[in-house]
Amino acid sequence: MPAMSKTSAHPLAEALRARLGAADVLTEPARIAPYMTEQRGQFPGQGRLVARPADTDEVAATVTLCRQHGATVVAQSGNTGTVGGGSPRHGDEVVLSLERMQRIRSLDADDGLLIAEAGCTLADLQEAAAAAQRFFPLSLASEAQCRIGGNLATNAGGLNVLRYGNARNLTLGLEVVLADGRVWSDLRGLRKDNSGYDLRDLFIGSEGTLGIITAAALRLLPPPRSRRVALLALPRLEPALALVRTAQAESGDAVVGAELMSAEALGMGQRLDDTPENPLPGSPWYLLLELATADPRADLDEALAAALEPAEAAGDLADALLAPTEAAAERLWRLRTAIPDGQKRAGASIKHDISVRPGYIAAFVPEALAAVTELDPAVRPCIFGHVGDGNLHFNLSQPEHAPPEAFQARAGTFHRAVHDVVRRFGGSVAAEHGVGQLKRDEVARCADPVGLELMHRIKHALDPENLLNPGKGAAAAHAASAAPPGSGAPS
Ligand SMILES: Cc1cc2nc3c(=O)[nH]c(=O)nc-3n(C[C@H](O)[C@H](O)[C@H](O)COP(=O)(O)OP(=O)(O)OC[C@H]3O[C@@H](n4cnc5c(N)ncnc54)[C@H](O)[C@@H]3O)c2cc1C
Repeated sequence: MPAMSKTSAHPLAEALRARLGAADVLTEPARIAPYMTEQRGQFPGQGRLVARPADTDEVAATVTLCRQHGATVVAQSGNTGTVGGGSPRHGDEVVLSLERMQRIRSLDADDGLLIAEAGCTLADLQEAAAAAQRFFPLSLASEAQCRIGGNLATNAGGLNVLRYGNARNLTLGLEVVLADGRVWSDLRGLRKDNSGYDLRDLFIGSEGTLGIITAAALRLLPPPRSRRVALLALPRLEPALALVRTAQAESGDAVVGAELMSAEALGMGQRLDDTPENPLPGSPWYLLLELATADPRADLDEALAAALEPAEAAGDLADALLAPTEAAAERLWRLRTAIPDGQKRAGASIKHDISVRPGYIAAFVPEALAAVTELDPAVRPCIFGHVGDGNLHFNLSQPEHAPPEAFQARAGTFHRAVHDVVRRFGGSVAAEHGVGQLKRDEVARCADPVGLELMHRIKHALDPENLLNPGKGAAAAHAASAAPPGSGAPS
């Protein structure tokens, strides 16, 4: 294969220009730069060519031309992924951006069905649903930038998975361009179909390694009519899950969000200028609950009071604050959403996106804390996350006044220590954001080898030439786990 030239005279660039038009095949360094940036700055893209097809036929043509010219393909939608999944690993890898595919093909409010192209931003889809008096519940802090193709390729989670599930649970069908350039399409919007393997679920969460998602059939729900947000101060971690479960039971399953925050994590958020003060200081743990319902007869205040009463009587609730207005509710949410940026202000960080059975969280946290403080007693844990789903961001900030580089250099040691505890609890080391490049080696070390081998076989069946996003995700983790030590990353 000829190396991709920096000039526009490269035969693949020329062929793509002839098919897509010159304006949407980019090679100039300044124009491709945004596609080469990566959220964490750890995996800057090495590509030299970005193709921006306008429709499914053009996506198929792009994949076919890349295959014919010996180039590999990495799909990009909003480029907000945090595990290096959308970054091209070398100069002969073409970025296929879905950003021009922004059509809503149809919306049927009675069917609760929205068919949208992969490049629609999540926020645009939420707005389209609301305009039709329907609700698309997927919600992430990145929703103005991330696009539904990327949300599905990563099986995105977010703030209300507890009630509505991951992106997978909101998807009825997909349209996908395969590695051989054919299109598999099932946008029929069927709620029931047992006529074979579930191909849709194979592509959801496959991180661009099995096919390029070009459109999706999505489920719409009735919009919530009322919501309540409360901050609870807890004297201990142990009662947190029981509180969530009681609130679910008392409210008719209306708990849409249950965010656990350690006092240290909440304190990190306070480093930002626009974060309100913690209204209930002095507790080691906090739980932010959001209840919302489409039921016009539901009384969420009553449900919350019924849920909190037994906890208070048992001494499991130090204090509680129910937001009296929408603005107050937003202020309480800000305490949680400020944490990631607040943590950045605290210097270098080492992050773990883990899950265990929700019932194991209270036992997992002290064991994982013991493991990291044994490595460095001055490390500053910043623990928060979706307690009802058993998904925690078990993050660590560098010791105060220590050199950031020295802390960062120990990332592998901290990862292994935390993930060994995750393994003991039968959990996952890549719970929400996927595998990409960042988690590949730890997934190779920690995941079930039989499962990884099956994934490798699926990858080989659908993409025998390893054309789509090679070296990323779980199938590449299999290759990494099978490779002899020191043999380097899989291609
Ligand atoms: C501030 C912030 C908050 C976030 N919060 C959350 C959160 O709460 N929950 C969560 O799950 N994630 C979160 N994320 C991570 C990220 O937003 C999600 O992973 C999102 O789903 C990625 O969508 P994207 O369009 O940006 O995908 P990209 O970053 O473009 O791509 C992500 C992966 O999907 C592949 N891909 C992209 N498009 C396609 C396609 N059309 N077909 C096939 N493969 C494709 C890429 O190759 C890559 O491997 C957050 C990120 C930020 C910056």
